[in-house]
Order: sequence, then C-alpha cells, then structure tokens
Amino acid sequence: SPRSTLEYLERLNPEQREAIETTEGPLLILAGAGTGKTRVLTTRFAHLLLTGCARPHQILAVTFTNKAAREMRERVGALLGESVEGLWLGTFHSICARMLRRHAEYVGLTSGFTILDTDDQLRLVKQVMEPFRIDTKRWPAQGMLGVIQRWKDRGLTPERVTPAEDSDFGGGGHARKIYAAYQARLIAVNACDFGDLMLHTTEILRTRPDVLAQYHRLFRYILVDEYQDTNTIQYLWLRLLAKREGQPANIACVGDDDQSIYSWRGAEVENILRFERDFPGAKVVRLERNYRSTAQILAAAAGLIAHNDGRLGKTLRPGREDAHGEKVQIIGVWDSDEEARIVAGAIERLKVDGHPLSEIAILMRAGFQTRPFEERLMTLGLPYRVVGGLRFYERAEIRDAMAYMRVLAQPADDLAFERIVNVPRRGVGAAALQKLHVEARALNGPLSLTVSEGLARGNLKGKSREALRVLMEAFDKARETLPREGHVVAVEQLLEDSGYLQMWRDDKSPEAPGRLDNIKELLRAIGDFQSLEGFLEHVALVTEAEESAAEDKISLMTLHGAKGLEFDTVFLPGWEEGVFPSQRSMDEGGQKSLEEERRLAYVGLTRARRRAVVVHAARRRVYANWQDSIPSRFIEEIPDEHVQHSGQSFQERKQAAHVSVFASGPLRSMRPVPKVTDVLDAPRVDIPVGARVFHQKFGYGVVTGVDSDRLHITFEKAGEKRVMAQFVELAS
Ligand code: ATP
Ligand code: MG
Repeated sequence: SPRSTLEYLERLNPEQREAIETTEGPLLILAGAGTGKTRVLTTRFAHLLLTGCARPHQILAVTFTNKAAREMRERVGALLGESVEGLWLGTFHSICARMLRRHAEYVGLTSGFTILDTDDQLRLVKQVMEPFRIDTKRWPAQGMLGVIQRWKDRGLTPERVTPAEDSDFGGGGHARKIYAAYQARLIAVNACDFGDLMLHTTEILRTRPDVLAQYHRLFRYILVDEYQDTNTIQYLWLRLLAKREGQPANIACVGDDDQSIYSWRGAEVENILRFERDFPGAKVVRLERNYRSTAQILAAAAGLIAHNDGRLGKTLRPGREDAHGEKVQIIGVWDSDEEARIVAGAIERLKVDGHPLSEIAILMRAGFQTRPFEERLMTLGLPYRVVGGLRFYERAEIRDAMAYMRVLAQPADDLAFERIVNVPRRGVGAAALQKLHVEARALNGPLSLTVSEGLARGNLKGKSREALRVLMEAFDKARETLPREGHVVAVEQLLEDSGYLQMWRDDKSPEAPGRLDNIKELLRAIGDFQSLEGFLEHVALVTEAEESAAEDKISLMTLHGAKGLEFDTVFLPGWEEGVFPSQRSMDEGGQKSLEEERRLAYVGLTRARRRAVVVHAARRRVYANWQDSIPSRFIEEIPDEHVQHSGQSFQERKQAAHVSVFASGPLRSMRPVPKVTDVLDAPRVDIPVGARVFHQKFGYGVVTGVDSDRLHITFEKAGEKRVMAQFVELAS
C-alpha cells in the first residue's frame, strides 16, 4: 500500500531514497563502510515488489555470503509483511548451481551432478597428473589446482587458455593439458568443482542465445552487493545477464573500493571503475553518512585507510546522533595465551554487564588464530561459534559419511566411491583399485557398477570379495529403503550395514565417541532437508556454519568472513608484523598486497558499532619455538587522538619474564623444553612426510605418512606407530 511505501522510505536519508527510487537503468552505489549500502539494496528489493515493478522471481539478487542472503530474505520478508518464495537470491555460486542444474546437458552433465569438495578435487587432479610424470615434490597437485582455479576465476575454459598463458607448472607445457584432462574427467564422473559452477553457467550463457534470452526475459532487475570483490568470471556472468537488447540494463551494484579484500582470489576492484563504461548512462550515487560506528571508531578507521594510495576517495561522516563513543583500545600482552585470557576475560565482564554475546566478535587475520580463543572460551563456559571454514563438514568421519551418501544418491560418483570402498578396510588396496579402474574403463561405467558386475559374474577374487559383497548389498538395500522410509533411515541403515559405524565403535581411541556423535549430528542435519540431494547440495554450497541467529553466542571468524557484518564490540587480536600484515603479504606482494592488508584492517575496525579492541602480543609460537614480535604498523597508523593504549609495555614485560626464568634455575638449554600443556597448546603444524620428529613417549623417528589426524612414524626405538600430531614436534 502507499502508506507502507511511505513508511519504509521515510526511515532513509535522501541519497539512500534516491538510490531506491531510481528503479530503471544502471545504478552504482559507491560508498564507505556502514553507510547503508546493503540496507539500500534490501529496501530496493522490497520497493520493486511493492510498487509492482517486478514479481519476486523476476529479481536476481547476489550476495557475498549465504548468511547475507538469508538476512536479506528475512528483511525483505519483514518489509513485505510476508515471506516470499521462489527468489533468485543467493551467492554467485548458489545461483549458478541452480541455473546449471536446469541446463546441465549443454556442458555434458546431467542435472544430478555432484559438487566436489576440495579433497575430491585434489584426488582427481592427482590421478589426472599421473600420466604426465611430473615431479610432484617440486610441483604438487595442490599447485596445479591453484592454477586451474585461477583460470576458472578468469573465465578461461581449457580451450580458451592460450599457449602464451600456459603456466610453467610441471616444467612448462603441461598445465593446459592437465586442465583439459581434469575437466574431461569431471564430466565423466558427472561432477563439477566450485569454479565450474560459474564457468559452465557463463559458458552456456555465452554460447546459447536461446538460454540467455530466457534469462533476459526472466530477470527484470539485478542487484549486487559487495561489487568490489567480484572476479572476472562473475563480472562476465553479470554483464551477460544485464545487457539486454533494446532494453535498459536494470542493474544496481553497491560497493566500496576500500573494502576490496579478495584480489588474492582474482577479484578485480577495477570492475567498479569500469561500471560507467560498461553501462553507459549509469547513475552513480554516493552515500556519506555512516550509521554503524561511533565517531571515534570511524575516525580511527579513516585515519588508517588514508595510508593507502590510489583510492577513489569517499567522504564518510558519522550519521549516528548518539555519543562520540570510546576510543579504540590498544592492548599489549605477553603472548598468545595471555591474549586469549585477556579477551575472554573482557567478554566475561561484558556479559556480566548485560551485553549479549551475539553482539561480540573476535576477528582474526587467519584461521589458525582461533584455537587459543576457543580453548579459553570453553574453559570459561562462554558459548561461541566459529563462523566460516566448514569446520564441522571438514571432519574426516563427516566426509566419509557424506561420501557414502553421495554414492547412494549417485552411483556414478566415482570419487566418493573411491573414498569409502576401503573404509572400513575391505582389503581393497591401491593395486586392486587400479584394476577396478581399468575394468571400469573397459565397461565404460562407474566403479560401483563395475564392482557389482564383477560380483555377479564371479570375477572378483580374494579376501576382498566378501567384504565388497556386503558393501554393495548395503547400497542396494538402502536404495530400496530410500523411497519407502525416507533418506534419514536409508542413510543410517547404509552406514550400519556397510560396517562404517561399527568401525568407529571398535576404535578405542579417545576421539572415536566424538566421531560417532558427529555422525549422529549429521543424521539430524539431513532430517532438515526434503531429500538427500537437497542436503548434499546444501553442504556443497554453505561456506559458513548454519546456526540459528537466536542463540546467544560469541562469533569467531576471519576478517575476510566478517565483511558486511556488524557487532557492538569487536576484538581484533594478533596485530603484529608477520601476523597482520601477514608474513606473506610482506614477503612477496610489495605495496599492493600491503594495501590489501590495510583494507582488511579497515574492514575489521568498521565492523564495530561501539567498541573496538586491538590486541598485540610480544611473542608468538612459531612451530615449537617462541619468536619475539613487534606491533603491527597499522597500530601506529591509527591517529593518536582516537586510541587509548593499555597493558604493560613490551620492555617491562620482557624484563619481568627474564627475571622469572632466571629465578627458576639456570637455563637448561637454549631451546625451551616444552611442557605437556605447552605441547597440547601448540598450533597444529603441518609436519611433512620425511620429517624427523620427536615424540614425548616414543622418542625420535621419521614421518612416513599422514592421514587426517594421525602421523605414521617409524620410531628409532619403538618401531612403527600411528600417533596424534599434537604430541609430535619437529626435531631440529
Ligand atoms: P558495509 O560496507 O560494511 O557492508 P553497508 O554500507 O552495507 O556496510 P549497512 O550494513 O547496510 O551498511 O548499514 C549499516 C548500519 O546502518 C545498519 O545497522 C543499518 O541498519 C544502519 N542504517 C543504514 N541506513 C540507515 C538510516 N538511514 N538510518 C538509520 N540507520 C541506518
Ligand atoms: Mg554491506
């Protein structure tokens, strides 16, 4: 109704209103953090529906995270007073997955294709690399995957990679061929990786005018959040959809060049600069009032980002009428343990004072930093969530169980089948698997069918036969159960009959019960979905932990994951040279990557509404040793008048520490002997195969293999053992 129209527009400032009411033609909203860009986009969505410009499915809205999509869906629902169905609202990847399922046959897939996780991708690329006889010590498969990913980010199919652009991977000349073989293999197993979702869809839009025309008719309006972080392929995809013959490009993008933090993933901030050229007649709206943060926080963030060159230049004024606010706090601590203690203690006090935990975040530069905070928060019984990074779904038992589900849903999923064919052990070693591959090629069918066939014809010999028969029967039985009793029952039955659950029940290691609990939790999660396929797709797409917003928990996440979000209080630990800015950005990137780190710092500070606390430690553990660290240059770059320092100075602390070391007796050796608690605390390090290591109980040995959480070590005295990585340290 006109009345409600009035109401939702009245709550906005004139520039914001202009951005919403300019419904036709290309529009770019270029504005700093917290100026209401996302809010404008959401309101615009509702406005287009309320004024009858479009029906819900005629608007394509792209967000940067699934969480943002969910929030936008909720906010649009709230503005309309009813929930809306059938929206094309989501991340680039989720929208492309939906499109690709409709047109999969154009790229040689069927609509039931699987989306691979990184484990599968790696396994596949390793297989594909084998015939090329590449020295994988020098050129590991992981690197090849990186090359492929970058090509995909740039919209390059194997045919489009020119010889000049070929990577020097593997000594030159092979990378393109490996890429082509990898793509062919993906099609053969009816799967695609994350990058393919965009690549295939864009390729279809490029080469199928009929399909493109269909979407041109469908999408009357396109809305894009965080436009500064779109990469080339996303840009191409958007441009194809937006440029309609004889009609205005109704595309509205919002972005902030100062928050471009994904160039390492191929994002091109130039896409913003190019907007007016791509869409002639584009209107550019600037928003200048920040409604999120206090004046102190804003000024601190502005002072910091002013150290970057080549900015587009935007004004940012405080828009909130309330207090000037507290200065940004800078706290110096002794080490990472004290850092965690101090932050957790501060959170505890905030809680006692009545601040909700959901309004508190700890934002780190890198994922590895979460661990000490997690432990401290657990000790204090403060609930938290780790946002991002698929923690739950990364666990080995979850991946195994999911592989079982994938084979159940799609017998042609060879990669999933390979993962579980010998888990639990069924006597199918590498050689047996190789043979199966040869047979499968001869039959021109998937592995699972080859096994069934082999069993039926009595081809399979040896001790593995009985075990494989049990496995295949378990799949057959589960497929029968599926339509009758639903996917939850079918999956549970499959995990039981295949012996997978029993494997963990028989496992006497301390983690085994937890693993069984995780699987139980997984079965609960499946129940929330209509179908197995729906669930598998969901897991392939989520990039953040799905938890209800209602729960009062502290958020732990990386700065990258915090984009677009806001919290009353934000803790920013680890502001030290080498951590933030990261060592890598300092070593290789020069000015450009340092500026990206600074933008990341800017993003961090501007997440805070009322309170921002920066912490830096005087020393940090690097592998088994301690290293002195110096405060981040970003701390100095925040103008003095907006910060308040606390904590002992480094010098004081160092002296105090030396005194206590000497007081407790002479130093036994230059290298500190780790205490048990220290070892338990040590960050998980990647100990490579071949490394000489020391284990508290078994002494010295050499690593011969690594699996998800154990190291295989041949000890000098104790012989072969499988041990947990945290009890092992690198021997020098
Ligand atoms: P970022 O760059 O961090 O993504 P943004 O520009 O998208 O920020 P929003 O998240 O949309 O900013 O808005 C920041 C905060 O300001 C939100 O809490 C929002 O509700 C509030 N806000 C936006 N516009 C107004 C307004 N006109 N009046 C009051 N509050 C507003
Ligand atoms: Mg935003």
